[in-house]
Amino acid sequence: MTTPHTSKTYHIGDARVTRVTETHLTGLTPSFLYADWDATLLDTYPPLRSNLDGTGEHAIISIHTWVVELAGQTILIDTGIGNHKERPFSQMFHGLNTPFLQRLEAAGVRPDDVDHVLLTHLHADHVGWNTHLVDGRWLATFRNARYVLPQGEVDYFGTPASANRRIVFDDSVAPVIEAGQAVTIGLEGGDYLDGFHFHPTPGHSAGHMSISLTSRGETAIFSGDVMHSPVQVYRPTWNSVFCAEQERARESRRWLLEFAATNRAAVFTAHFPQSSAGLVQHTGDDLAWRYL
Ligand SMILES: [Zn+2]
Repeated sequence: MTTPHTSKTYHIGDARVTRVTETHLTGLTPSFLYADWDATLLDTYPPLRSNLDGTGEHAIISIHTWVVELAGQTILIDTGIGNHKERPFSQMFHGLNTPFLQRLEAAGVRPDDVDHVLLTHLHADHVGWNTHLVDGRWLATFRNARYVLPQGEVDYFGTPASANRRIVFDDSVAPVIEAGQAVTIGLEGGDYLDGFHFHPTPGHSAGHMSISLTSRGETAIFSGDVMHSPVQVYRPTWNSVFCAEQERARESRRWLLEFAATNRAAVFTAHFPQSSAGLVQHTGDDLAWRYL
């Protein structure tokens, strides 16, 4: 199964939403990703096999940004891994060099056009293109943008637990704060612009937030890392190996799935393969995922 670098454009009321892909990771097995993995799930729901690579052994993990165009504004949701970043803790993220900015331009967005960068959390695969390397210094890639960070994520980087990821904050977050381009959303979440709302969905990371978008009665939600794959729609208690706080991660996933199903919201995920977007639907007592 291949996944294109840009997606079709979705319409949520007056907003246009398009994915721009940075890369795909295919090195991780489902049994590594999910401690609770049970392969018989693939027999119960055969379409889930389409989320695995050609060998049938590895999950396909997309890394991308979502571009939202609304009311003359250009908004990015999460910014991938970035180029040339030193990532001693992850071979998959270290020293990447992709034509992401060219792909963004191909989607009609030059870096200086970006007005807002909304971040679900501050992990290395969500903040990378916040900055780029200019004459040996990390500078804001989007010079005219306001970067919107969950306060709980910023706070986490003030704790000793964050020490082994400090490099991510230093090269991808601190430069936009120092440039005066950052604002934070408080722990309780809140509205942003006309139509966006930050919802606290902690667990995967300390201050993780999901971001809803409402326009002309239509709703979408950018789910960040509340889920990594459609298997978690069918098994909402399955946390990924990357989730920091187990019970809070499950609570946040249950909340998000219910929000999506109740509001018939398009879910724009951070890592699902294929189109990365879909609907969550009730089928009897269970939930199901349908790609859009
Ligand atoms: Zn992620």
